[in-house]
Amino acid sequence: MYILSLDQGTTGTTATVINAETFEFIDKENQEFKQYFPNTGWVEHDLDEIWKSVRLTVETVLKRNNIDTSKIKSIGITNQRETTCAFNRKGEPLAKAIVWQDRRTAQYCESLKADEELFKKKSGLPLDPYFSGTKMHWLLENNQYVKEAHKNNDLRFGTIDTFLLYRLTGQTSFKTDVSNASRTLLMELDNCSWDDELCEKLGVDKNLLPEICESICDFGITKRLNFLPDGIPINGILGDQQAALFGQACFKQGTGKCTYGTGAFMLVNTGEEKKYSDHGLLTTVAYKYQGKTHYALEGSCYIAGACVQWLRDNLQIIDNAAQTEDKALNVKNIDQIKDLLLLPFFTGIGSPYWKPNAKAALIGMTRATNTDDICRVALEGIALSINDLIKAMKSDMGSDLEEFKVDGGAVANNLLMQIQADISQINVTRPQIIETTSYGAALAAAIGAGLMTIEDVSKQWKKESLFETKNDHRQYYDYKKNLWSKYIEINF
Ligand code: ADP
Repeated sequence: MYILSLDQGTTGTTATVINAETFEFIDKENQEFKQYFPNTGWVEHDLDEIWKSVRLTVETVLKRNNIDTSKIKSIGITNQRETTCAFNRKGEPLAKAIVWQDRRTAQYCESLKADEELFKKKSGLPLDPYFSGTKMHWLLENNQYVKEAHKNNDLRFGTIDTFLLYRLTGQTSFKTDVSNASRTLLMELDNCSWDDELCEKLGVDKNLLPEICESICDFGITKRLNFLPDGIPINGILGDQQAALFGQACFKQGTGKCTYGTGAFMLVNTGEEKKYSDHGLLTTVAYKYQGKTHYALEGSCYIAGACVQWLRDNLQIIDNAAQTEDKALNVKNIDQIKDLLLLPFFTGIGSPYWKPNAKAALIGMTRATNTDDICRVALEGIALSINDLIKAMKSDMGSDLEEFKVDGGAVANNLLMQIQADISQINVTRPQIIETTSYGAALAAAIGAGLMTIEDVSKQWKKESLFETKNDHRQYYDYKKNLWSKYIEINF
């Protein structure tokens, strides 16, 4: 028996199969898809291409492992959050999805500033283009197909989970989970339902939105697909960062993790009580199960692994992400690059500064600066961004973090992990399974299917490595942290 998990991420889609009795990872298949940048600050995905990547990755992983599809007991979905989809009743896309990184609504957010406190109190979020609500507003105002469908009562809005669920269930289930809904600016945090006042402010009719469900429940069953049989239940849906928190078994108040994917996201479980941040973090829902809502504080940093992609695709100084480590290790005397800084704010700054218009910078170059140096400072720039999240989290929690668990594609980079431990003066714990997002969604589905309990998830979690803080380069990093903060303070 198997559990299938669909992880629809920003750069690619991964289908993962786990054993439904031992919960061991069996295999996964990933496929990247195209990113569209039609305008400055705009980022879009083609929903048909996303759907194709789901079908292909599922077909491939099942075929490679000779899996009899009648033995799939449950499906879990996890997804890039906030990315906004508009489709019709038939499940046909009406527009390209507006990706969470897209900044097109920055000015609109600015115009709503008078309501900032209202949005923060009710939804836990700052008014930033990152979240879905203003993207829905933009589509309603600017896209003729969306406008027409709206007029004809044929418009459905959702995040990626909703779009996939709608398609997987043969257009029978139009739902989302609390963790995804909590990223729209439209959900009230206490009762986990769409809020009339917030919906009205953004001009989004509640009838266009999916039903909000617990993260673990009966979302529907597969229907009318050509790659899976009818009748497989979908039992777990979590936004990608919440799925990682779940997969890292951070169920207790005060436990947390940071995922290093395209962006980096740090979440700390604050229990059944929601906590507001005084340091630029978000209040969000971790998950809801058996009537209980668990909240989290979140630091969202838009660029982490994406900076490495920029080195690969734009500067073309590496062929693959792993090379950043080899090249950075070629820098023998780091004191020679103490003034060199890569601030990777390619899509503005999220937590803790919330500067949608900030731009990236590479400063402090000399004639001696080479591509090895740039790789090294790119890794440092990622770690410095995350250091800002750690600092904010410590201040809000009023204590040091007990443990710093990490996951996501970029944590394969040992040097990055060590730099993080040194810069943030924190021990970094890497688990055996670093694809915690997919795994978390699979485990949520397994719980929903009655195959395991939350306690079993904690037993399942295993450490692989611990990167301990070293003080060898203390002065160097203190100098860099100072340079970093000053640059941000002066420029944005
Ligand atoms: P997402 O789910 O956001 O698509 P993943 O968790 O799959 O992201 O991680 C992919 C990201 O990790 C990419 O941005 C890639 O550049 C980065 N990455 C992968 N391996 C490494 C590595 N060894 N060093 C640094 N970055 C890496």
